[in-house]
Amino acid sequence: MQFIDLAAQQARIRQNIDTRIKAVLDHGKYIMGPEIKELEKLFCSFTGAKHCITCASGTDALLMPLMAWGIKEGDAVFMPPFTFFATAEEPALLGATPIFVDIDPVTFNMRPDLLEKAVEAVQKQDASIYPLPKAALERPLKPRAVIPVDLFGQAADYEAIAAIARRHDLMVLEDAAQSFGGSRHGKKNCALGCHAAATSFFPAKPLGCYGDGGAVFTDDDNLAELVRSIRIHGKGQDKYDNVRLGLNARLDTLQAAILLAKMEIFSDEIEARQQVAAWYSKYLGGMPGLTVPTVEEGCVSAWAQYCIMLSEGCRESVAAHLKQKGVPTNIYYPKPQHCLAVFAHLGYAPESMSAALHASRNILALPFHPYMDEAAVQQVAQAMGEALS
Ligand SMILES: *Cc1c(COP(=O)(O)O)cnc(C)c1O
Repeated sequence: MQFIDLAAQQARIRQNIDTRIKAVLDHGKYIMGPEIKELEKLFCSFTGAKHCITCASGTDALLMPLMAWGIKEGDAVFMPPFTFFATAEEPALLGATPIFVDIDPVTFNMRPDLLEKAVEAVQKQDASIYPLPKAALERPLKPRAVIPVDLFGQAADYEAIAAIARRHDLMVLEDAAQSFGGSRHGKKNCALGCHAAATSFFPAKPLGCYGDGGAVFTDDDNLAELVRSIRIHGKGQDKYDNVRLGLNARLDTLQAAILLAKMEIFSDEIEARQQVAAWYSKYLGGMPGLTVPTVEEGCVSAWAQYCIMLSEGCRESVAAHLKQKGVPTNIYYPKPQHCLAVFAHLGYAPESMSAALHASRNILALPFHPYMDEAAVQQVAQAMGEALS
């Protein structure tokens, strides 16, 4: 059994992929070829966002809006500690101080009530209101932006987060690296009303290319223009008329071609993911010693991962038993961000983010992809039952 079976998907669309790649080889426009515009247009109509700017990775998709907003040293940027490193890495790379906001233990997404507290704590430089990094006590930081993460494919609580952001004049950047294709209250992820959204097309994400790729989404004309400039070395009228510092962050034409072929089956795959998740709930739900993931009312998860929570202390033996039965597992994430060596200088105690710490110790990701059948899910459930008994 495979953890993610990309070969099954490729077999289904190989002919379309070959045709799309051949078209690029024939026209030879490897950089910013016609497939880029075609894909950006398609992504706008798919999500409902006004602008889409494709780019080289999800990491660049997070970095560019932060650059456009002028995020810098002395700024406070809020994000959950239970995420992939890039969410905190990019604002830190620009010199801003990451301020961690603990997660909801059920959805694994940022808790809006704690965001409110964290903002107040930064404003008053008072760590008794909410745990803060040392840097926030040494000098006043300016709250500038929040990066909620749609972990494992489920959107964060943007209604509550947007209300807090409006009160405190924060920019909201949705980290939708894992949630492209999902929706919340009828609106597609990446078009949930945030100032900008960033997604990733890393091969293992819900929509993956055959290399690195990403995209920024926004309804803001001015931001879209800035990100388009930053994507190509801060270009002005043309690429030798540089008006600001930027990056080389373009998506390859070949990757756009592959994504265009994959988009033909993507909605179908999102449907298939709902079915696989439903089978897992059916066979694992109610099993003593584990908790299956839940999706909030009105949300459709893109199911980037299917992660269960186990009782304290039994993860190692469960994973070992599953492995012995031919069932691969993974851990997302073994260390929350506030416990990483790179952020040791922030001075966070591990227990200061107790829900993130607890999740990192007891979470387990099971095999999951749209081509999994009911028998495979039953096989995982059978092995799980044995492991827990
Ligand atoms: C994958 C991921 C990223 C980074 O995307 P890349 O395309 O690998 O650069 C950022 N945030 C989250 C939550 C991710 O899962």
